[in-house]
Amino acid sequence: MDLPDFTSNFWPVILTIIFFIVVTGRYFLVAGLFYFIFYVWFPLKWKERKINKKIFKAGQLKKEIKWSLITSVLFSVAGTITVILWQKGYTKVYTQVDQYGWWYLPVSLIAFMLLHETYYYWLHRWMHQPWVFKIVHKVHHESNIASPFTAFSFHPLEGLLQAIFLPVMLLILPMHYYIIIIQLTIMTFSSVINHLDIEIYPKGSHNILGKWVIGATHHSLHHKQFKYNYGLYFTFWDKIKNTESPGFQKLFEKFTTKP
Ligand SMILES: [Zn+2]
Ligand SMILES: [Zn+2]
Repeated sequence: MDLPDFTSNFWPVILTIIFFIVVTGRYFLVAGLFYFIFYVWFPLKWKERKINKKIFKAGQLKKEIKWSLITSVLFSVAGTITVILWQKGYTKVYTQVDQYGWWYLPVSLIAFMLLHETYYYWLHRWMHQPWVFKIVHKVHHESNIASPFTAFSFHPLEGLLQAIFLPVMLLILPMHYYIIIIQLTIMTFSSVINHLDIEIYPKGSHNILGKWVIGATHHSLHHKQFKYNYGLYFTFWDKIKNTESPGFQKLFEKFTTKP
């Protein structure tokens, strides 16, 4: 199939609009699904697993959706730039699995996530420097009690710092486009789960998930305590740098030892 030259005519604008529809659609679908399941349809079933006894503030969701739409514009522009760079041959994105073999697919996904974790952990710590916090990261923390819609609620400067990571990585790390789609899906679900303020990890998972994977309890503590739990998907940087909340394990076990 012959693709048009994406730098010509209105193609950059058309591509950005297509990406915006996909990115916002994904946000409303995943955040909306979790919101309806856990807050509208079955709140009583999850009452015991609610981390903060209070619910989010009135008007909070509207603000979060507004900031998330701005973030979606930035993610869409990053998507368009990535496609143009790919078409011009600057990226390491590939389309034939045989090029690196099947074994490389999961390896590239894990490598990307570990690098993303490292980038985000240190970026996040920097964003908690008082002067940076005020400008860049305060918007996200205005959601003192997080909701599924907090997932992409960032100040545009923070949105930009988050949006550039994937395009930059794709200049260096070979990734099949299927793996990029899987990674973006994991990223969306992970962010919504982490901001749910209801612990949904299964009973008895404190030895694996609770130890290594970030979830709602871990990230809710970040929104309340500010100086702990800076990670994105995994807890290892928080463990290495001793920034995991001292109350985390106990609280997580409290939620996951009961059915
Ligand atoms: Zn957060
Ligand atoms: Zn923070």
